[in-house]
Amino acid sequence: MSTPSRESLSHYTPGARLVDSLGIVGFFAAAALNGARVLALGAEAADSVTAAALFAGYLGADVASGTVHWFFDTWLSAQTPVLGSMFVRPFREHHVDPLAITRHDFVETNGSNCLATVPILLAALAFDPAAGALPRAGVVFAVSLCLGVFATNQLHKWAHLPERPPWLRALHATRLVLRPDHHAVHHRAPYARHYCITTGWMNPLLDRIGFYRRLELGISALTGATARAEDAQLG
Ligand SMILES: [Zn+2]
Ligand SMILES: [Zn+2]
Repeated sequence: MSTPSRESLSHYTPGARLVDSLGIVGFFAAAALNGARVLALGAEAADSVTAAALFAGYLGADVASGTVHWFFDTWLSAQTPVLGSMFVRPFREHHVDPLAITRHDFVETNGSNCLATVPILLAALAFDPAAGALPRAGVVFAVSLCLGVFATNQLHKWAHLPERPPWLRALHATRLVLRPDHHAVHHRAPYARHYCITTGWMNPLLDRIGFYRRLELGISALTGATARAEDAQLG
């Protein structure tokens, strides 16, 4: 999930900054509450179930980032009420001005994804990780997924930085996060490959099986809509 360039579609108002700030506080509070419940289990939670749920959550965040990104790159219009100004235009303007995201501070970069994940983390609080492997896996998956979604816009921003500090070059070399050279594939017209922007790990598979092209064919058959119909207008 990503809103790369809100500043270019409108001013980042103090009200929007306040809402984003509250979202970030809520995100860290809800993530910490969930994480503390798992950590309280101690060695009992240090097993393959927890490791698998952690990995699945991080992979899930990459798929979520790609799917949301693909949806707003491909469908609806910048003129669509509410969603158009909030999501469609920022995603498509990011293709025109990829460096705008690098001018956003921490709150503007990460607020919207924090707001989006708080409900998932609150729902996870309804499950007791001490009750068994399955609820524990569910809570760990939810926390990992939400941490990955939270990190997505920051990782996307870092992949666009014109000057990368040594620590960021080292992080990119680990391949644990989205790398600039990998993400650059998406920024070649017609901007229809490598949609995933958390780690990019899922991109080769999703591109190879034509995952998003198949979804587009299905949606076009059902609705009659044309994929990327508005791209020409947005230049
Ligand atoms: Zn895009
Ligand atoms: Zn980008």
